[in-house]
Parts: sequence; C-alpha cells; structure tokens
Amino acid sequence: MGYTGPLSDKDRIFTNVYGFQSPDLKASQARGDWDNTKALMAVGPDAIIDAVKASGLRGRGGAGFPTGMKWSFMPKEPKPGKPNFLVINADESEPGSCKDREIIRHDPHKLIEGALIASFAMRARACYIYIRGEYIREAQALEKAIAEAYAAGLVGKNAAGSGYDFDIFCHRGAGAYICGEETAMLESLEGKMGRPRLKPPFPAGAGLYGCPTTVNNVESIAVVPTILRRGASWFAGFGREKNEGTKLFQISGHVNKPAVVEESMSISFRELIDRHCGGIHGGWDNLLAVIPGGSSVPLVPAAEIIDAPMDFDGLKAVGSGLGTAAVIVMDKSTDIVRAISRISYFYKHESCGQCTPCREGTGWMWRIMERLREGDGSPELIDKLYDVTKQVEGHTICALGDAAAWPIQGLIKHFRPELERRMTERNGGAMLEAAE
Ligand code: NAD
Ligand code: SF4
Repeated sequence: MGYTGPLSDKDRIFTNVYGFQSPDLKASQARGDWDNTKALMAVGPDAIIDAVKASGLRGRGGAGFPTGMKWSFMPKEPKPGKPNFLVINADESEPGSCKDREIIRHDPHKLIEGALIASFAMRARACYIYIRGEYIREAQALEKAIAEAYAAGLVGKNAAGSGYDFDIFCHRGAGAYICGEETAMLESLEGKMGRPRLKPPFPAGAGLYGCPTTVNNVESIAVVPTILRRGASWFAGFGREKNEGTKLFQISGHVNKPAVVEESMSISFRELIDRHCGGIHGGWDNLLAVIPGGSSVPLVPAAEIIDAPMDFDGLKAVGSGLGTAAVIVMDKSTDIVRAISRISYFYKHESCGQCTPCREGTGWMWRIMERLREGDGSPELIDKLYDVTKQVEGHTICALGDAAAWPIQGLIKHFRPELERRMTERNGGAMLEAAE
C-alpha cells in the first residue's frame, strides 16, 4: 500500500496544468522538461521499458492496460520494410474527459519528450499524435511546441544529442468519437473511414500500415520523463498495489468548483471533492450519483461512492470503473433518467454502424430510454431494455457497444424505482400491467 493522501505540489508531474506559466520551450525547460534527456535514454531501450513496468503505470486512456507490458510486445529488431510506430491518442472525446486537452495546452513539452523516450524504448523512428478535430487551439499549440523542439534539435536527427533519429507529426481528426478507438484511429491515419478493426491482431502485431504499432494515451506518455527522472519507485509509491501513481482527475457537474487536478491514485471520492472542488452543491446530503470515469462507465449511487478509493479496483468494487477519471457529479436536482437517455443518444449517434448489435442496439436502447423518460410503458419494458443491453454487451467489434450498454445497466440496477415511479405517475397512480 503506497501513499493515498492528498498530493503535495512537489509531487505533481503536471506543474503547469492551470496554465499559470507559459507552455513554450524556455519555460518548460525551466520547469525541468528536456533536462539531460540524452542521459535518460543512455540506459537503453530495455532498461526504460523495465522502469515503466516497475512504476506500475497503467494506460490512462480508460482501459488501464499495463503500459510497460504493452511496450514490451513491440519487436526489438524491426524487420526491413516493417518499421515500428508510436501513435499517441489525443482524440479525447469521452464525455467528461478534458485532461489531455490541459496537458497539450499547458505542458506540451512533457508529451513531446515522452514521445521521444517511448519511441526510443520501442525502437520507433516516427510518432503520430492524433488529435481530435475540435481541439483547434490545442492542435496549434502542439504544432508550435513540435516546431520549437525541432528548432532546438530535441527531435529530428540525433534527437536531444542521443544519436537517435526521430520524427514526430501532429495529425488532426475530423470530429468522430469512434476515431478514438485505437484501430479506428489507425484506419483514419491511413486515410480510410474510421472504423474499428477486429482484435486480435492487436496493433503491436499489425498496426499502422500493417506495421508493429503501440497506441498510447497522451497522459500515459507525458508522465514517462518524470517517472524516469524521479525513479519508478517514486511513482509506484502513490496509490495501491496494481493502482499505482498519480492521476489527473477531471471533475465536472454539481460541485462548487469544477477542476482538473493531479492527485494520488486511490484518494477517496470525498477527499477529492472536498479538497479540490469545495464540496457538492447543497452539501453532501444533496449528492445523488456519480459517473466516476467518463460516460462509458456505470453510475454509482451516492452512498456507495463517497468512501470509494478512486482507482481501478476501488471503482470496480462498486460496479463501475476508473475509465479516464472523468468524474461527473450529479446532485438531487438531476433528472437521472434524462441524463442517461442523453448518453444513450450520444452512443447511437457515434456508432460507426459496421456491426449489427451496436448499429441496431444503440438505436433500440435510446428509443426505449426516451419512452422510459416519459414514463411510457410497463415494468416489462425495463426488463426488455435490460435484455437489449445484454444482447449488445460483449457482442460487438469494439468497446463502444459495451459503453452504450453499461450506463443503462447501472441506471436499471440503482434507479429502477425511479423508472417505475414515472410510469405510475403518467398513469395517474396506476401501473400498466399489459405487455408492450
Ligand atoms: P482494450 O482493453 O481492448 O485495450 C486496451 C489496450 O491494451 C489497447 O491498446 C490494446 O491494444 C491493448 N491490449 C489489450 N489486450 C491485449 C493483448 N492481449 N495483447 C496486446 N495488447 C493488448 O480497451 P480499448 O477498447 O482500447 O479502450 C476502452 C476504454 O477506452 C474504455 O474503458 C473507455 O474508458 C476508454 N475511452 C476513452 C476515451 C477517451 O476520450 N480517452 C473515449 C472512449 C473510450
Ligand atoms: Fe462500430 Fe459500434 Fe461495432 Fe464499434 S461496436 S465497430 S462503433 S458498430
């Protein structure tokens, strides 16, 4: 068990997350970025991968796959004509998520330095940062930072004096949520329609242009230089076993001060909110439910979340997940059925349509959710909706199908009485018994 209390400023990796200082190269170097990067790389690729493994870092894009292990899947000796690639996922589109945006706006050099080190560790000579189309100013900030790094010799030929030649490109998406799915992103980078591929093969086996590729989230890459500088055991000293490190939490909704803040993993929900957000609107008794990891994870009712550790295992234990750590707080003024119905509409709209359970199921789920929102139907309709979510969950090419099903399952599990209350209210106090 590591440290799970509040983080002090000296232990924060993203020291400019609020943008109080300039994101430019000079100011970034004053904050410690690019400090003798050559020496960090001199230990060699395998030692870097071992350090990332020892740090316990798990992917920060939502799925939490161990980062060092993912890197170790890449070929150590790329075959001729099959170069290794690093692709950084900056297509941050999960409702509630906005941490990668802050990194790119205010600390872009952490990302670029991390990209060089990660690429070197994985024997990749080129890195593509795929940034969502709506992040226009962020793409400009990133392109400016990349140009600064080239001009200073930190990337390009003999990057940072390491003897390693490395190129980095910013590629802008066009606004499709599904392009954040790693294989849809690879399709999009190749100039095709962004549609997920079947996995396996995983990208390390056949990724960009059929070549070995690792796709990592922005935060996962941006923390790497600091982990190497301060040591794997420093990073692993935060949080709990299998939930190590510090983490950017993005807290929105009915809190007094919404925030993006770096904290120790495993901090309790209550401490996170009290310390950084000034509490819940109307006080803790007014809390209804929380979606703790972005819209793809089920909601958790107030009583179960308050003391939960904010990490992968702590949120799994209450039937949800850490996801991207986009914490959406809802107080008792929330129309919870409408909120989940709105999320359903989002997934229906963003489905790429290539597999039937998702293409048809997301439409079904949304339409039934709208009926339930209006109190239309009998309790049998709730069971039917649950059945549809089970037909979608686990039966689709990519995780969007699960992401559409889980919020509804959470609603039915925790708020079935509210769904039934609407039905009786609409029917003047009586419940319809007939099947649809
Ligand atoms: P996943 O579990 O399928 O994969 C996670 C990563 O591990 C991938 O890179 C995958 O290639 C790799 N991997 C998994 N098993 C592997 C194996 N056996 N061998 C080699 N590599 C393997 O999850 P996913 O579909 O990539 O991501 C789903 C998550 O994305 C959701 O949990 C959600 O929270 C998150 N999400 C994030 C955003 C965002 O804006 N950041 C948007 C939508 C969804
Ligand atoms: Fe496309 Fe949905 Fe199938 Fe994913 S699950 S591939 S988004 S249709």
